[in-house]
Amino acid sequence: MNISLRITMALIIPVIGSLLFSGVLLFQRMQVVSEVNQLQKLTSLVPVVSAMVHELQKERGMSAVYIGSNGLSFADRLPWQRHLTEEKKKALLAVFDRFDAEAFSISLQGKIKKTQTKLLLLDGERKDVDILKSSVSKIANYFTITIANLLSIVDESATLSTHAEITNAIDAYSSILQLKERAGQERAMGSGGFSRHLFRPEIYKRFVELIAEQKVFLDSFNTHATLEQKTFFAQTMVGATVDEVERMRKIVIDSPITGTTGNIVNSYWFDTISVKINLLRDVENRLADDLVVQANQIKKKAWNVFIITLGVVVAGFFLTAVMLFLIMRSITRPLNHITRATQQVANGDYEVDLPCHTSDEIGVLASNFMKMSFTIQEKEGHLEKAVADLTASYSHEKVLKNKIEESINKIEAASRAKSEFLASMSHELRTPLNAVLGFAQMMQYRKDEPLMPGQKESVDIILTAGASLLNLINEVLDLAKIEADRTTINLDTVDAVKIVSDCVLMLTPLAQKRHIKIKNMVSSASAMLNTDPNRFKQMVINYITNAIKYNKEGGLITIEGSITDHGFLHLSVTDTGIGIAEKNHPNVFEIFHRFQINPHISVEGTGVGLSVVKLLAARLAGNVGFESKLDQGSTFWLELPLLSNKNVLIWTDDLRVGIDQIDFDHQCFVKQINKISVMSQNDEDINAAIDELLKYFAHHFGKEEAVMRVCDYPDLELHSELHKNLTTALNNIIQKWSDQPSGEITAAMRDFARELLIPHMHEDQKYAKFTVGKERQILDVMVDIDNVRNHTAEKMSVNRESKNAITQPDLKKLKNIIFVDDEQHVLDGLKRSLRGMSDEWNMDFVSEGEEALGLMETKPYDIIVSDMQMPTMSGEELLGKVEQQYPSTARVVLSGHVDQDTTYRLVGSSHLFLSKPCSTELLIDTMRKSISLSNTQGLTSN
Ligand code: ADP
Repeated sequence: MNISLRITMALIIPVIGSLLFSGVLLFQRMQVVSEVNQLQKLTSLVPVVSAMVHELQKERGMSAVYIGSNGLSFADRLPWQRHLTEEKKKALLAVFDRFDAEAFSISLQGKIKKTQTKLLLLDGERKDVDILKSSVSKIANYFTITIANLLSIVDESATLSTHAEITNAIDAYSSILQLKERAGQERAMGSGGFSRHLFRPEIYKRFVELIAEQKVFLDSFNTHATLEQKTFFAQTMVGATVDEVERMRKIVIDSPITGTTGNIVNSYWFDTISVKINLLRDVENRLADDLVVQANQIKKKAWNVFIITLGVVVAGFFLTAVMLFLIMRSITRPLNHITRATQQVANGDYEVDLPCHTSDEIGVLASNFMKMSFTIQEKEGHLEKAVADLTASYSHEKVLKNKIEESINKIEAASRAKSEFLASMSHELRTPLNAVLGFAQMMQYRKDEPLMPGQKESVDIILTAGASLLNLINEVLDLAKIEADRTTINLDTVDAVKIVSDCVLMLTPLAQKRHIKIKNMVSSASAMLNTDPNRFKQMVINYITNAIKYNKEGGLITIEGSITDHGFLHLSVTDTGIGIAEKNHPNVFEIFHRFQINPHISVEGTGVGLSVVKLLAARLAGNVGFESKLDQGSTFWLELPLLSNKNVLIWTDDLRVGIDQIDFDHQCFVKQINKISVMSQNDEDINAAIDELLKYFAHHFGKEEAVMRVCDYPDLELHSELHKNLTTALNNIIQKWSDQPSGEITAAMRDFARELLIPHMHEDQKYAKFTVGKERQILDVMVDIDNVRNHTAEKMSVNRESKNAITQPDLKKLKNIIFVDDEQHVLDGLKRSLRGMSDEWNMDFVSEGEEALGLMETKPYDIIVSDMQMPTMSGEELLGKVEQQYPSTARVVLSGHVDQDTTYRLVGSSHLFLSKPCSTELLIDTMRKSISLSNTQGLTSN
């Protein structure tokens, strides 16, 4: 509904109201006019009636005199009078015929009817008079009743009038008519009396009554007449005639006493009173004229009022219509201008000109709108400039961002390449070293060719230095694996107290060598952890070993444990050793950093141990730290989550997607979220940590989607949607954080990881199968990751610690062992190394799978030890066949290079692993362990 229509609607009700009011007013005025019309008709009747009355009165008097004088008096004047009466009668009847009595009242109608009937009898009455058949009383009776009828019409007119002025005028007029009628009757009575010279008592009585009645009607006249009329009456009804009538009346009134009528002649009386009656007739005429004039005036006035009212109403309507039009125009016109202007602005054209300069609200609106469009125009200009600037800086930013991302990828890849390089180089080093050690051991153990004392010394040096080198290589390899996040974590419920005391027990001999006392204060109360037992042990050993190595002779080592508020075991190893200078503190956990300042204390070491501890702790959702003072000692501590701590997240192999880069990212998320969730909100690094997490998120999702794209992953869109949702969810949490940092929000981040991120990693596993055969393309999309290769299966290799855990089997009989390797020097080395075991084991050495299977048909073997990469039949195939045909034979892999997938498959087939090169001691231990577990499924040596 537009504005004009609404204004019309708003005004329509008052307009209709005033229309109705005007209509009612006009109707009332119309009614007055029509009433006045009726009144005029009624008043027009009155003079005709009174003229008739006048003539009848005269005829009545003459007829009475005629009869009373037995036809002597008025015989000559009566016919003329009758003619006059007839003329008035004709006029009256004509008026009656035209007059619509029904429009007034039934009573008036009846009275007219009665009069008409009475007048029809007039001729009959006259005939009786002519032949003197009628009496005075009879003829007087007829005329009097007829006149009374006529006068009653006038009276009725007075009652029918609704107008006070007219009613009064009619009443005054009627009073004069009645008075005149009584005077007429008086004339007749007097005529009778004077003609007999005697007023009989009934005539006398009537005569006196008539005089009294005239007085009454005179009073009535005085009541209703106007001042002018009364003056006119007083001025008219004076003079000799009036006095003469009064004199004769007195004679009549006194006649009963005087007994005489004063010899007054009948005709003298008649003529004299007739003059007086004529005077009354003048008054009557004057009143009749007044009545007509008054009626006309009233009618005119009523018409005038009606016309004025009509004029006012029409003018009012016209004015209202004009006002309405003007008001609507004054509102809608500027509004239309504003509407057009807003459309113009909406279409982007701000050059608006509003021709609306009023000071009302619309004017203010228009001028504000003009200001607003001007401001918008101005701002748009600024905005355009800002957008242009922004676009320029954005593209610059984008270039920078791309460069940064590229750098990140390069650094990441370089770091991984370094780890990969270290891992593979370690293998390359271990193979010849294995040969060196093997031959040195062989020389040492050969009973048939014992060494000369000098030679023995040299071989011992070779063996010691070789073992050191092997240890270094193993440690570097271990660290490289952890760093490359390819270490398999086997979570378990771990009794920390027990493991710590095992470690103490194991390392006590080493401590004793330097007279160092180890004080294990870790309480006997239970501290159950959710961690990898071997890795935990490795960390504790590293700490205690260092506390021994870098202690002073006869020093003390104190091991303490406590539970933190966050649900972690806090384990500390304190020594009273050389300590670390403060300047070196930042590099303590960095690889290859060694700070031995005392040249007299030569301590063996590689500078890798602490790095391993730190990386492992991070993988196991833990944390490390230390305090140290030069020459006073150090406290190295480690925190790992308790079993009861459900808040930490530990990335395990079941979350593996199968693409190293992606898995690496996932681990980073988990580590970072764990890190944040234990940080306090006041921690100065927390914001940086959160920022890092967000950045890594975006970086990773981009990487993941790129991989999916090259793999033609069908649900890419759906997956990107999930990424968006995850990013939004994380952003929401971080937004809350920036609004009001709190511990609840860091907890929310952890919950986010558990409830959304971890399930998402499982979801990621869906696209892993689409990556098969696309390795090349995946590598291509990852910037600068050409060095990324399938890594070796060193996860499964036996490390330094595990050998201590192996228990000695109960050897009752000679065990059959078969070794398979395509490299002859490896077989030779094994033969030499294990020569001393021939009293326990019966050993066969073959160079290919077929040959091994052939031999296995001839006798039962307890163990088969096989290389993986062999030309005719691969180690995997061979071991698979052995598993099927000889399930009781324990299967051991001895390999320098096993790819990741093979490793997982082999883990599933319950094999033991040894990585080349390995020490004779380890080889023997592993063999023994294999024998003891030969029929047990699902165990590994690590
Ligand atoms: P390694 O002991 O093989 O040299 P680590 O990574 O275990 O390597 O230690 C790195 C360096 O940190 C050590 O070389 C030593 O200088 C210093 N360090 C480690 N533990 C202690 C300790 N308990 N007291 C003093 N110095 C230590």
